Amino acid sequence: MSGVHDVVVLGAGSGGYAAALRASQLGLSVSLIERDLLGGTCLHRGCIPTKALLHAGEVADTVREAGHLGIDASLGGIDMPRVNGYKDAVVGRLYKGLQGLIKHRGVTYVAGTGRLTSPTAVTVGDAVHEGRALVLATGSYPRTLPGLSIDGERIITSEHALALDRVPARAIVLGGGVIGVEFASIWTSLGAEVTIVEALDRLLPTDDEAISKGMERAYRKRGIATRLGIRVASAAATDTGVSVTLDDGTELTADLLLVAVGRGAATTGLGFEEAGLRMDGPLVAVDDRLRTNLPNVYAVGDIVRGPQLAHKGFAEGIAVAEQIAGRNPAPIDLAGIPRVTYSEPEAASVGLTEAQARQTYGQVRTITYDLAGNGKSQILRTSGFVKLIAREDGPIVGVHLLGSRVGELLAEAQLMYAWEASPEDVAPLLHAHPTMSESMGEAAMALAGAPLHAHG
Ligand SMILES: Cc1cc2nc3c(=O)[nH]c(=O)nc-3n(C[C@H](O)[C@H](O)[C@H](O)COP(=O)(O)OP(=O)(O)OC[C@H]3O[C@@H](n4cnc5c(N)ncnc54)[C@H](O)[C@@H]3O)c2cc1C
Repeated sequence: MSGVHDVVVLGAGSGGYAAALRASQLGLSVSLIERDLLGGTCLHRGCIPTKALLHAGEVADTVREAGHLGIDASLGGIDMPRVNGYKDAVVGRLYKGLQGLIKHRGVTYVAGTGRLTSPTAVTVGDAVHEGRALVLATGSYPRTLPGLSIDGERIITSEHALALDRVPARAIVLGGGVIGVEFASIWTSLGAEVTIVEALDRLLPTDDEAISKGMERAYRKRGIATRLGIRVASAAATDTGVSVTLDDGTELTADLLLVAVGRGAATTGLGFEEAGLRMDGPLVAVDDRLRTNLPNVYAVGDIVRGPQLAHKGFAEGIAVAEQIAGRNPAPIDLAGIPRVTYSEPEAASVGLTEAQARQTYGQVRTITYDLAGNGKSQILRTSGFVKLIAREDGPIVGVHLLGSRVGELLAEAQLMYAWEASPEDVAPLLHAHPTMSESMGEAAMALAGAPLHAHG
């Protein structure tokens, strides 16, 4: 079925479906092309299934630790097929809801593999889908390293990890970024013995150093082994599992190796370069309004610069749809995109790290408020901190959080950052007691010079 639409969207993940929904809301006719499942990586192989497993792990930890609260409970076991059933049911409900939404908004959904065949058309099989505007949103795939062959059994990616019908007794995680740290958390909570190997000298290497140090301490306490500042030289599947050799000759063995070394942009073999699209390495080159070098062709999500996050894709999809409809949305501030690692403990941040803030502004004010002084954190038996970074006599430019559930505090942090609030603006605002959010208020009060529940 060929056709002409106002907008043709290639890829129905977070970026693509957000563009399609917003464009149709604005009265444009939309064709949305997807070769796999509506919802893309986040819904089927990323955000949602990992968070369901993390929650299952949290429940297992709660049962194990119930005795500390005087509750007698024992963990009878982990039935992974049933855990997966719970995870898949969550995904299934959201998938059904999204299918309904796309239909309800009148988006023409095209199942098939698309290819950019001109600056105004995507071809699927024999059908040519002409668009007055095109949105490219083909997403990303798990990367591996040269010499590491993914077999899906012993040497696996996050996609295989999400489908495992058992908990490995011992696992090696290659990569201490967000995905590696989250799977280390899941498997540890479900009873595995985990070692993370990271080439850089800290976990979560793009985060503020305080987060890396805090996470390393927390993981040590959880019994998660880390080998930092060292590379994997080779890895091979064995009869019983996997054998991994590090650069210093150390040999590690486990049931499986999860390769979590980042995600590559899915931009090859799709006709992009042949159509004259300018690339930036593997990424599609875009300006701050997500315009490519081809007129009326936009690109969003994991195939363009910036953090690979679902809500960045949503925001970019919406912004592009609005531009196509003749509106003028503000460019997206990449540093202002909230970032969460949903492990136990969680790490959450928005804005600049301390190192970036010092590089940008020279002198800055910082405060690290310890959650030990926060009543709700004591009740939940978590530890961590709220770190605020502000310009001298100026607004908050970075917020970094560590502790159980601190991702939920990030909404306030984002408002503070995006509205350029100074610590003095935030200090008088009330936070309900006892909540973890009080730690945000306490940190602002301390930075404004008047801490309540802190020495100083
Ligand atoms: C394990 C894991 C956990 C994650 N957790 C989080 C999280 O907690 N929070 C968060 O914000 N982000 C998370 N992410 C990242 C998030 O999933 C991505 O940033 C997001 O999905 C990117 O959206 P996208 O639209 O750019 O691409 P995708 O979601 O990858 O969608 C691209 C779509 O395009 C389709 N496609 C590609 N080529 C073609 C073609 N030629 N024809 C037709 N269709 C095509 C693909 O099938 C796919 O459905 C996680 C990722 C992973 C892997």
